[in-house]
Amino acid sequence: TAADGLKWDKAPCRFCGTGCHVRVGVKDDKVVAIQGEQLADVNKGLLCVKGYHVGGILYGKDRLTQPLLRKNGKLVPISWDEAIDVVAQRIYDKPDEFAIYGSGQWTIPEGYVAQKFIKGGLSNNHIDPNARLCMASAVTGYLSTHGVDEPAGCYDDLDKCDVMIMWGNNPAEMHPVLFSRVIDRRSKGEEVMLIDIGTRRTRTTEYSDEYLEFKPHSDLAIANGIAHLLIKNGTYDKSFVERFCNFRKDTDTPSLFGQPSTFEEYSKLLEPYTPEYVEELSGVSAEKIRMLGELFGRRDIRITSLWCMGVNQHTRGTNMNRLLHGIHMLSGHFGKPGDAPTSLTGQPSACGTAREVGTLAHALPGGRIVAKEPHRKDCERIWNLPEGRINAKPGYHTVKMWEQFCTSTEEGGDVSTIWVQVTNPGHTLPNLKKHFTNKEGLKDKFLIVSEVYPTASTKLADLVLPAAMWVEKNGIYGNSERRTQQWFKMVNPPGEARDDCWMTIAVARRLFEMGHPGMKDKDGGFIFELKDDSGAEVPVWEWERYYDVNVDKQLYEEYREFTYMKHKDVAPYDELVKARGLRWPVVQRANGKWEETPFRFMEFSDSYVEKGKELQFYHSVTGDDKALIWFCPYDPPAEAPDQDYPMWLSTGRVLEHWHTGTMTRRIPQLRNAMPHAYVEMHPEDAAEKGLANGDLAVIETRRGKIEMPVWLNGRGRPPRGTVFVPFFDENLLINDITLGEIDPISKEPDYKKCAATVYKR
Ligand code: SF4
Repeated sequence: TAADGLKWDKAPCRFCGTGCHVRVGVKDDKVVAIQGEQLADVNKGLLCVKGYHVGGILYGKDRLTQPLLRKNGKLVPISWDEAIDVVAQRIYDKPDEFAIYGSGQWTIPEGYVAQKFIKGGLSNNHIDPNARLCMASAVTGYLSTHGVDEPAGCYDDLDKCDVMIMWGNNPAEMHPVLFSRVIDRRSKGEEVMLIDIGTRRTRTTEYSDEYLEFKPHSDLAIANGIAHLLIKNGTYDKSFVERFCNFRKDTDTPSLFGQPSTFEEYSKLLEPYTPEYVEELSGVSAEKIRMLGELFGRRDIRITSLWCMGVNQHTRGTNMNRLLHGIHMLSGHFGKPGDAPTSLTGQPSACGTAREVGTLAHALPGGRIVAKEPHRKDCERIWNLPEGRINAKPGYHTVKMWEQFCTSTEEGGDVSTIWVQVTNPGHTLPNLKKHFTNKEGLKDKFLIVSEVYPTASTKLADLVLPAAMWVEKNGIYGNSERRTQQWFKMVNPPGEARDDCWMTIAVARRLFEMGHPGMKDKDGGFIFELKDDSGAEVPVWEWERYYDVNVDKQLYEEYREFTYMKHKDVAPYDELVKARGLRWPVVQRANGKWEETPFRFMEFSDSYVEKGKELQFYHSVTGDDKALIWFCPYDPPAEAPDQDYPMWLSTGRVLEHWHTGTMTRRIPQLRNAMPHAYVEMHPEDAAEKGLANGDLAVIETRRGKIEMPVWLNGRGRPPRGTVFVPFFDENLLINDITLGEIDPISKEPDYKKCAATVYKR
């Protein structure tokens, strides 16, 4: 209010994919207060401990405020002019060897600009977001089930379900505000059964009615066991399956769309997955498998499944996503509020930017892909580019991109410069040591990192560009439930920090001035021309005017045209300004009002469903409006414990820290609450190894070793034979020794399981 002397405005939280809305209080060009936004449907005034401290992320003492260029081994300050020259020259000399590595923390305009720069400007498609490391398997799961990415349901499902099943998921810590929606219902006397299916006990387990602990990787067997029982007991939803589903099976050479199958073949392939066989594979008792089968077989309850990294960061992540969709389809637990299979995201705009804008190496905006000529033509038309500008060959996915960068040119490493924006690969890539200790491979390579603080990645960088963050710039994010959220710049960034969108356009402009043909449209104009209200061009160099012309709005409105191509219609910018987020497809009614779509493909909610159809998968793979139910077998993990490395190592997150901790570790309250990483293990395993609480343990895998303190009986408890390490601590980089194996379809790495040995130092 005016009475408190603060200027308040709305913004989504900077951290997780839940997309809580906050009210930001500003005084004297500084964020001084944060409140949960009462008007926001997502969180209704509530925030988690990270959200309440989100304002503090701007004010760490070591913000980067000047461009820094490595000279004689040291990073020294240079001007923006020089920095832009350096980047532009690297690209000008070798445009085909240049790549951008971005993130689900990019705002929608930032991601849009970056992918247009690479795909429409440099024609090489070497751009990928870090979202490849966290939800690529959810993308391939949705694509191969519904024919189009992103969930059908939304958070409202949590308010309606009778049973919530969490698959390898710990929402009590990772999506606490969402979890609280269900706990709140229970505290008001509603009956909601919570089932935690996981590989270690967590805070989520404490609230759950059932805890089913499975051997790592065997979740596929459990899902197949449920499907087996539904068919064997005749409790699958025959009518639903006949009206809305077709069948597919995985093949020996995994592919996105597999091979057509039939209900009969599907039933036969599931025959071996008896409860007893599933118990043998998974360690979950046959009785509990029957309990799950019975629940899915009931028509009088609604079941919501939630999952996140436990399912996605998996060498069979695509298959596990398919199986979860499959058991919901087979049982008819789909298409009603509360009956939904939904993947959550870890980053604030993993959906809005990484997926929807088309920053993945094979994608174009609006669900288009580079491999299809008509899609490229659509894109060239909207961008006013000459025909053939967009390359038909997908660029390198994340792991491949970094492998190419860290391999010498002589040995075929054909990515010589990477520009990292809004992410920290020096901390998060799996099997890190393999990448960044290869001095010979990195010779002559050039790493550019846009960042807000010094990180594990800036330590490796040749050029560091100081970035503005969150409410220091305009922005738009899209959360896990298809909700697009907008905010305005509220405070100035420190020193010379600037936003990533500006950096990309500035480099493009310099290349345009150098005569790079890719920066010209069909008429010879600049591909990112910025205009004021009168239509006159505003050069990107006029930094003071950059926000006056609302570049975000200009880019977003250009992007919006793409969203109509696959019924992902986002709202006009001005509607977003008024709202606390709107879930697409957002359609205009006859009265002129713009309305969101909470439930997709469902006639009662989605205006794209034809009258009388009830449920319509209008982008189905088979072209008949039906979804696909997949058979995917259980097969062994890429690496399992053996005599030399007898334990499972799993990695993940903690409540207080967001991903690599570069923001949250600079907030004293959060840092003090969780100061460093640790290894969590079963007390009996620890006792056997002579380890007590706080002792330093060595964790060793085939890729190296690391030491960290043991935490016994903490907030989580792995079973015997498993250890867990959170990855937020840059001083204890567990990714130095994690496994680099990837899902063959989504190319997402498995961070959740590898073989390790643990011993006292
Ligand atoms: Fe922010 Fe996620 Fe916490 Fe909500 S749950 S306040 S979005 S970190």
